[in-house]
Amino acid sequence: LVLPLSSVFRAVGLVQRGMGAYQRVEEALRLPVEPTTAQIPADHAPAPRPPATRERPALALHDVHFGYDPRRPVLRGVSFTVPQRRHVALVGRSGAGKSTVFALVARFYEPDAGTVLFDGRPAAELTRDACRRGIAVVDQNTHVVHGTLRDNITYAVPDAPEAEIRRVVELVRLEEVVDRLPGGLAAVIGERGSTLSGGERQRVALARALLARPALLLLDEPTSHLDAINEAALTTVMKDVAQECALLVIAHRLSTVQHADHIVVLQDGRTAAVGRHEELLTGSALYRELAASQMLRPGELRPPPAGGR
Ligand code: ATP
Repeated sequence: LVLPLSSVFRAVGLVQRGMGAYQRVEEALRLPVEPTTAQIPADHAPAPRPPATRERPALALHDVHFGYDPRRPVLRGVSFTVPQRRHVALVGRSGAGKSTVFALVARFYEPDAGTVLFDGRPAAELTRDACRRGIAVVDQNTHVVHGTLRDNITYAVPDAPEAEIRRVVELVRLEEVVDRLPGGLAAVIGERGSTLSGGERQRVALARALLARPALLLLDEPTSHLDAINEAALTTVMKDVAQECALLVIAHRLSTVQHADHIVVLQDGRTAAVGRHEELLTGSALYRELAASQMLRPGELRPPPAGGR
């Protein structure tokens, strides 16, 4: 339970890429063993998956409470929805609980109270595997391994058709990179290979996640400096990705939240406000403060004490 969340999210990525890390992650986290579908009593067995509709949000949290240590609550009433094919940004000061929300959605932990619903179905009725199959996580650590650009993109779906690979390359604006690298998709990248910028590596990770066609993409936006071109590319990519799947982004940049369909402001583990950028600028003092500080990029503003990790 003391592993840093970045390691947890890295582990989620590895699970999705079929690296067999799932077992080790479960062991490392000492998660309680959950029943397999066959062991779940009939009245709790998952019903056949209903077709997604716009009425049923891809993700909903209802009054979620959670503490890593039961004596120290971290989430104290978080409620929001991510509608199908919409972009929702999660903002808040350092320590507000944003990464903890991701950890609960990825089901590394279960809420102490409240409900998490995927496509209208309570997470508690679904196996972790079933939940994770529909979710992709792209965290701040970019996972580019030594291999070709194609290998890096098709890690989770090695037999992806060419047209699908081209689709995600286009979606995440990597065509220029493909054109630039000698050999294009066959160019070797990663350690000892051609180098990519931080923003390009992030988009390779996004392409890899999108190739699996997730219903929900969790993106922890990079906090490190992106040049103007990469920052603009990421903003455009988010807009386009949200046409394909529901997108929940831990946002650190004002430029990206401005385009979100709605923004959830977390404060001390509670949903302090939900709305669009302009609404929150007038309606939420905390949001105004965050906006003024450009979403607390590390090093640019000292966050208030969060109680220590
Ligand atoms: P940041 O923007 O700095 O990443 P955040 O909003 O994502 O912050 P969390 O990382 O969710 O905040 O942390 C919320 C609280 O939970 C903090 O007080 C933190 O110290 C605590 N916390 C986070 N992860 C763990 C953990 N694995 N074990 C115990 N406490 C934790």
